[in-house]
Amino acid sequence: MTDLTSLTLSEARDGLARKSFTSLELTEAHLKAMEAARALNAFVLETPDRARDMAKAADGNIAKGAGGPLAGIPLGIKDLFATKDVRTTACSKILGNFVPTYESTITSQLWRDGAVLLGKLNNDEFAMGSSNETSCFGPVVNPWRREGSNTSLVPGGSSGGSASAVAALLCMGATATDTGGSIRQPAAFTATVGMKPTYGRCSRWGIVAFASSLDQAGPIGRTVRDASILMRSMAGHDPKDTTSVARPVPDYEAAIGKSVKGMKIGIPKEYRLDGMPAEIEKLWSEGAAWLKAAGAELVEVSLPHTKYALPAYYIVAPAEASSNLARYDGVRYGLRVPGRAIADLYENTRAEGFGAEVRRRVMIGTYVLSAGYYDAYYLRAQKVRTLIKKDFEDCFARGVNAILTPATPSAAFGVGEKGGADPVEMYLNDIFTVTVNMAGLPGIAVPAGKDSQSLPLGLQLIGRPFDEETLFSLGEVIEQAAGRFTPMKWW
Ligand code: GLN
Repeated sequence: MTDLTSLTLSEARDGLARKSFTSLELTEAHLKAMEAARALNAFVLETPDRARDMAKAADGNIAKGAGGPLAGIPLGIKDLFATKDVRTTACSKILGNFVPTYESTITSQLWRDGAVLLGKLNNDEFAMGSSNETSCFGPVVNPWRREGSNTSLVPGGSSGGSASAVAALLCMGATATDTGGSIRQPAAFTATVGMKPTYGRCSRWGIVAFASSLDQAGPIGRTVRDASILMRSMAGHDPKDTTSVARPVPDYEAAIGKSVKGMKIGIPKEYRLDGMPAEIEKLWSEGAAWLKAAGAELVEVSLPHTKYALPAYYIVAPAEASSNLARYDGVRYGLRVPGRAIADLYENTRAEGFGAEVRRRVMIGTYVLSAGYYDAYYLRAQKVRTLIKKDFEDCFARGVNAILTPATPSAAFGVGEKGGADPVEMYLNDIFTVTVNMAGLPGIAVPAGKDSQSLPLGLQLIGRPFDEETLFSLGEVIEQAAGRFTPMKWW
């Protein structure tokens, strides 16, 4: 039998339905791969016993012809999703050994559809970061390496564990979240596919909040089709999240292979940055040529407020974070560091529990929301946000179906290489992704090529609100043209 971990999710689903193998065999193969890949630090908690129980239950259902759309498929879950009776930490010391008594809506939908939990995946602390280096469990290592080098590279962040685990074939797919790029940037760094849905498409209930008006969960998969399959189970209206939208969930997989003939694809001139590496420029033109060959029409578009997106994001996101993170006070859950008076307990707990990047965000956020600065920073950033959204609306009103951009300004970088002296160096990584969150739009990152050091690079497609299907169709055109990329196993 071929190594079961090398199948795509859709192949595994079909194999399970044909009874070529069982979910227990598929799950065991992945548990073995996880054990052999601990050097990547992708999982912060392995749940093998639960995985076996869930796999056996799935096998029973499949035998009865009652398996759901993900019956028996082993998945990894970002540690930002609350999982009932399974430790959930957001990779922060402040949550300590928090064990939720409830399940997030998204994960409950995955289990409803028959998926199997392999364990919880590493991420940047509270999803703040672009390299997975802010996790209290330590950095995740990218399974990709520069040609002829054994330097450890970051998998991107904040969903670094999800991307690394999917790329290294440790799980068949993973959940992730994206506030400013955390699904798409790690997907681009690891040659996986990441879909950030429209704001409101997936429920945020039971996901640890970072910046509530920007946060949206989505899948990371091995292929565009795999991401589309996961997306169908993750999406949907949830009365427990008032920002989730009551629209029917389409069969996203049906969008795979659909013709893109006649579609209008925008190429935004503002994304052509000064000093952008030639290989990113080349990848972008190649992607445009593939879409053109498939019958799409390419048009230059302008998104004039793009240059304000990153500074505005780094006001809005910390502002919301400072408010959301106020609940970690040492009283309700997680870590408690006692003090003489209650205020000392708060201070001691937060000083000890939060890492440096989280403290920085809380301080920036509190500052921009404080009396006297609110109008100058927060309110102005919100106005800029409206203009960014309008840029996209104008573009779509002219008949553009989707926008093509690079996913990241570079390939994966080395662990410890960026942001040590200047945090802005790290923030610049989000330059192509934050606009999408500011506008609440869907965006997909698809592997499209390699750089001169043989590291994967991704392209991003940005869509109209609730038109994830078009992104899956276009994404698959790129995937077909570029081919699939798998890292050489060294771990
Ligand atoms: N890198 C961005 C940040 O640090 C985005 C993170 C995310 O999308 N969760 O805020």
